[in-house]
Amino acid sequence: MTAAARPPAACLIGWPAAHSRSPLIHRYWLRTLGIEGGYVLEAVPPDEFKDFVLRLSLRGFVGANVTIPHKEQALALSKPDARAKAVGAANTLWFADGELCSTNTDVEGFINNLDASAPGWDKAEEALVLGAGGAARAVVFGLIERGIKTVHLANRTIERAQALATQFGASVKPAGWDKVSELLPRAGLLVNTTSLGMHGQPPLEIDIARLPDNAVVADLVYVPLQTELLAAAQKRGLKTADGLGMLLHQAVRGFELWFGRRPQVTAELRSLVEADLKHA
Ligand code: NAP
Repeated sequence: MTAAARPPAACLIGWPAAHSRSPLIHRYWLRTLGIEGGYVLEAVPPDEFKDFVLRLSLRGFVGANVTIPHKEQALALSKPDARAKAVGAANTLWFADGELCSTNTDVEGFINNLDASAPGWDKAEEALVLGAGGAARAVVFGLIERGIKTVHLANRTIERAQALATQFGASVKPAGWDKVSELLPRAGLLVNTTSLGMHGQPPLEIDIARLPDNAVVADLVYVPLQTELLAAAQKRGLKTADGLGMLLHQAVRGFELWFGRRPQVTAELRSLVEADLKHA
């Protein structure tokens, strides 16, 4: 079969790549939308990444997801959009007029999951984001893009929070971890972007009772699916958005760019990935 006659295929490039749920998600959409196409894992070591990406099309791929440790290199080797530039990392590659383009879909994954799980969340005037790593950059960019006026950014290493504030401007207020408790009563939206609360990591110790009554709580951690933070927030009757929802929503754009149809995040897809995570 010639390359043009072959069904379109995308891949996930990582090192390692084996733990990813992306094949499960994209193959579900290919199957349910009746699209003839493929999605495969490509374990590529860092010193071979450049060559792999520059020959992506020759290898028969219409695009790719990129994960650890290649996201910064992917940005440098492609034409990034504003989101990828702001986050400083690209996780999705596609071709437009023959040119390799990139974006960071964690931004819309986070925002679209909030829209789906807690409509009206953006009435919050002030948000409190915990953590200042890679995921926090996507979250902060998304919140500012959506018009949240003040984003308090609390991190154990305050210098990292200060660096993000310098990059994103005056609406981002850096804070040390010791300020979390006093910021909670102002937070219409609380977002955990740290790895605290994740399986095998220390717990996230937060006094949920200090949040306003109408606060929304989002956690990026999805192992376990129901974190202690989310359980405590739900117990208090607060709306929540979980990490698995973000993971599913961030996959939508890549699929649409590669295969030309916008897929839905369905309850069936969620159950499929939940079951897979439980067996991990
Ligand atoms: P990262 O760049 O390594 O950042 C980790 C963050 O956690 C830093 O702010 C770090 O603080 C903080 N942290 C780690 N241990 C801590 C501790 N003991 N006490 C206080 N703070 C601590 O990681 P990342 O890429 O941003 O990812 C963070 C989390 O988000 C991970 O759990 C990841 O799985 C999750 N995530 C989920 C999605 C999704 O789709 N649901 C997408 C992306 C990421 P310091 O700066 O002080 O080290």
